[in-house]
Order: sequence, then structure tokens, then C-alpha cells
Amino acid sequence: MRVSKYLLSTQKETPANAEVISHQLMLRAGLIRLNASGLYSWLPTGLKVLRKVEAIVRDEMEKAGAQEVLMPMVQPADLWQESGRWVEYGPELLRFQDRHNRDFVLGPTHEEVITDIVRKEVSSYKQLPMNLYQIQTKFRDEVRPRFGVMRGREFLMKDAYSFHLDQETMDDTYQSMHNAYSNILSRIGLEFRPVLADSGSIGGAMSHEFHVLAQSGEDLIAYSVDGEYAANIERAEAPMPTEERAAATQEMTLVDTLNAKTIAELVEQFDLDIKKTVKTLIVKGAEEDTPFVALLVRGDHDLNEIKAEKVPQVASPLEFATEEEIRSVIGAGPGSLGPVNLELPIIIDHSVAVMSDFGAGANIDDKHYFGINWERDLPLAQVADIRDVVEGEQAPDGGKYAFARGIEVGHIFQLGTKYSEAMNATVLNEQGKSQVLLMGCYGVGVSRIVAAAIEQNHDDRGIIWPDAIAPFKIGILPMNMHKSHRVKELAEKLYQDLTDLGIEVIFDDRKERPGVMFADMELVGVPHTIVIGDRNIDNGVLEYKNRKTGEKQDIPMDEVMSFLT
Ligand code: ATP
Ligand code: MG
Ligand code: MG
Ligand code: MG
Repeated sequence: MRVSKYLLSTQKETPANAEVISHQLMLRAGLIRLNASGLYSWLPTGLKVLRKVEAIVRDEMEKAGAQEVLMPMVQPADLWQESGRWVEYGPELLRFQDRHNRDFVLGPTHEEVITDIVRKEVSSYKQLPMNLYQIQTKFRDEVRPRFGVMRGREFLMKDAYSFHLDQETMDDTYQSMHNAYSNILSRIGLEFRPVLADSGSIGGAMSHEFHVLAQSGEDLIAYSVDGEYAANIERAEAPMPTEERAAATQEMTLVDTLNAKTIAELVEQFDLDIKKTVKTLIVKGAEEDTPFVALLVRGDHDLNEIKAEKVPQVASPLEFATEEEIRSVIGAGPGSLGPVNLELPIIIDHSVAVMSDFGAGANIDDKHYFGINWERDLPLAQVADIRDVVEGEQAPDGGKYAFARGIEVGHIFQLGTKYSEAMNATVLNEQGKSQVLLMGCYGVGVSRIVAAAIEQNHDDRGIIWPDAIAPFKIGILPMNMHKSHRVKELAEKLYQDLTDLGIEVIFDDRKERPGVMFADMELVGVPHTIVIGDRNIDNGVLEYKNRKTGEKQDIPMDEVMSFLT
């Protein structure tokens, strides 16, 4: 690629409104451009990286025996009505009508469509197990799109769906997807952790997330220092004994803020009883910076009665959220969200974490959700300290657990029969009897991986691409090529020879100062650079520079090709 003919579009200044480094660098290096909130165009360099990630994902899916399909992004509402998610899904689902006033959605995920295909196309147990995947654009009307493509509204996902007659093959496929996800992230060269994840409505069923470790990660993950256990804090192994929970409630730290106080007052007023039926109430805070606060109400309180009688008594005006809003805050995985039973309120800073009776929990923070979940041995009282711990990455609990921030780049789920039952996806089993299929689903955030890779690989000069996903492998920087015939000739030849070998080269043939050329090459993150200048040619060498190590090396001219290839 000749830079003179290429849409490089780099920029020097750090863009406003880009909070995390990957977002800043993706804009500065000319990878993406914003079109509207959460909607981005991929410019040539960005697209090259995206396609590389996609290719690795596709390769690992094929190796694992999954078959590629492509489903429509626009999906008919009927299917969502059949599965029940038309009602369940909440405002992240973009709904619209066509010219005949028929309802449609922009697919945030494809369980319904794939189940519809499989129920029509697969009729015999002999065809199973089957794993189908696609790499395709998804749309989720995220309440707070941010961090560039990390949390976009439109994004590229690889989603796979497997169908089974028995739990054994379900477990096998789940394990093979688990392995494939590990391979994908290892091949890209990212530091990651698979963690046990909250499976939402699916309760009990198996679910893992794959997190790329980064300080900017929106999730909090806990792992045992011995390496045996790791979980998104959204998830816990087992319910905590009631007494322990009660004790932890006593110990909870109330931070002196209006919201925290309000919650505490409400909890007291309602005389909450830990052993009674659990009910959740999420109220909207009046203050702009904390649009949501959550409150757990235990016992059989009539929400309307509380609304009418109790709320006016507290200092801050409050408004009840609708069920849809609650769901949008609590969030849903590729599966969906069932009833959420939350019980234990824990107040951290300005937000409130609530814990369900099966140990999973949610933290409502800035209207944005990240989960809190922990293994039972981790004393709940320590949850209030989690944020401090995370910032310092210390290991609490006698060094047994450590916390880290993670970016969720993949999520695998065993869905059981949730969709197949609702949509009647059955096959005839060996005995000729109709049997409902078991189903698994497996998502990778292809576009999110690009951002996550930058979070882990950058310095103050720009991106440092891992070789596997670099937009270009080699950069050729000729010094004063427009004045020196020798430099031009050598640069052109090297460019030609490398290109002929199928190597992706970016050749800076612009009439630019060397400083500008170096800065662009480093910003864009090209892993290997060859500098061609008159002085070096006099010495019979070219200069090689490694982006990652910064190491420079003079390579004899006749060895350059073998050194680079
Ligand atoms: P998150 O918790 O970050 O909102 P999710 O749990 O809602 O993600 P899944 O339904 O599990 O997401 O989808 C599978 C994968 O798609 C996620 O693991 C993530 O990598 C990616 N993904 C989800 N939402 C977005 C988004 N808004 N922008 C980019 N990638 C996303
Ligand atoms: Mg989400
Ligand atoms: Mg998920
Ligand atoms: Mg998630």
C-alpha cells in the first residue's frame, strides 16, 4: 500500500470525548470514524484489523466443526413473540415497522432465527449435534454507548448456536467452544481469563465469559490466586448461607451520599426481613448523575402501596422504574433474562449492588450495569472494598482471591431448552419419538476485540499491534526519496519484492518530513519498519526497527529480504 494513495487519516491531537486509550488511538490512527452515537465506519486500516480478527475467529470455528451461515439482520417480530422475548427484551431491542405495518426488530442476537431454521431443516437425531455460526452485524440500542467500538450500538459479532439431543454432546460442544475461544485469544496474543459467568434466567446452566484483562474493563472479575477458580463477579458458585448474609448486611458500609442515605432510610422504613420473599424495586434517582438507584425490598410489600405511602416520606423525590427499564439496567446475555430475584443490598460509593438468592448480582452504576458476584467463601463485607481492591489489584481474603478488570470479549452459554421448547424445535429420536432439542450459544465480540487488543498493546506513541492482527506487517520509510534516486529505487524494489511474496507492506512514499512519517508509522502500530536513507546505503545497510521493543538493528542490504521473511 502506498501511503500517497491511501486513506491514512491520522491525527495528532487526542480527540475530545474519547475516554479510553483504545478509543483515542482508533480515532487518531484513522481506524474508525463516528457517524452517530454508537455507530462507526471502519476506515481502511481499521477494517484490515477487523478482518484479521474475523479470519482467526472463522478459522477456529471451522476447526471446531461449526458451519457458517448468514442470517438477516432484520428479524420478524413473530419469532420474538414466540420465544417470549418480544416482551422480555427491553429497550435495547430496536423495533420498527415496514410499509405494511408489520413489526420487525434489528437483531441484537439470533437465537430465534436459528431455532426457526433448525426446526424446519433438521428432523432426525442423526443430523445432530449441529453447530451453526455466523459473523454478522448486530444492533443493540445500548443505553450508554461508549468507548468507541467497545460498546457500540452496531457491532460485529460471531455468534454460534449448537443443537443437541443429549447433555453429553452438549457438554462436548461447549468444551470445544471453550477451547476455540481460548485459541482465538491466544493466537491474537491477548492476556485473558475465562471466567464463570452469570447465566441470568437460565440459572444453574453453564456459562463462561472470556475477559481480556485491562484497567478500562467494565467488568470486575475475581479469580483465585491458585488459578483454580475465576468468575465474573456477576456469578457465584453457591448461595451464601442466610446467617452469613444477614451478618454481611449489618456490616455493609453506607457511604454518605444522598442516594445511599435514601436507600438506607427506605430499607429501615420497610422493616425488611431477610427471610421473607424477596422483591426488587428499582427506583430512579432524582439526581442527574445517578439516574438509577436500586433498592431491595424484602417481604410481600405491595409496590404500589410503597409508592403511594412511603416514598413521599423520603427526602429525595423518587420515581419507580418500569419493568422494561429494570431489565435494560440489569442487562441480558445472548440468552435472555428471566425473573430477577434480588435480595441483599450492598452500598458501594454512589451505587447499590444487589444480590440474588442464587448468588448472582448486579450493580447499578451510572445506569450502567456491571455485575457483582462472588464465591461464597469471599466474605460479603469485603464487597464494599472491591473497588479499592480492583484499583490496586490486591488479593484480599488472605491472598486467596484477586480481582481484575476485564473486557468481556466472549460469552458461551448452555441454554437448555428455553428456545427450543418455546418454539417447538424437536427431532425424532432413535426410538422415533419427538424430542425437544438442547441448545447452546456462543458469542464473540469481533469488533470489541480490536479495541481490547489496543487496550493491552499501546504506548505513548500509539498502537503496538500483535503481529497476528496488524493491518500491515512491514512499513517502508524512505528518507528524502523525492531527492535521492538511490533511496527511491531501493524502496520501490523492496516494496515490490515483499508485496510479491504476499506480505502486507505500507510504503510511505509521501513528500513528508521523516518525523511525520515515523510518528504515523508508530501511531498506526506497524510491527516492523525498514528505514532507507542515503547514509545507511553508503554503509551497505538498511535500518530495521521493531515497534514493540523499540530495538533498532542495521541489516546488510543483501540480507534484508531473508531477515524480513
Ligand atoms: P456486555 O456485558 O458488555 O453488555 P453482553 O453480555 O450483553 O455484553 P453478549 O450478549 O454476551 O454481550 O454478546 C456476546 C459478545 O458480544 C460479548 O461478549 C461482547 O464481546 C460483544 N458485545 C456485546 N455488546 C456489545 C456492544 N454493545 N458493542 C460491542 N460488542 C458487544
Ligand atoms: Mg449487554
Ligand atoms: Mg455476555
Ligand atoms: Mg455481559
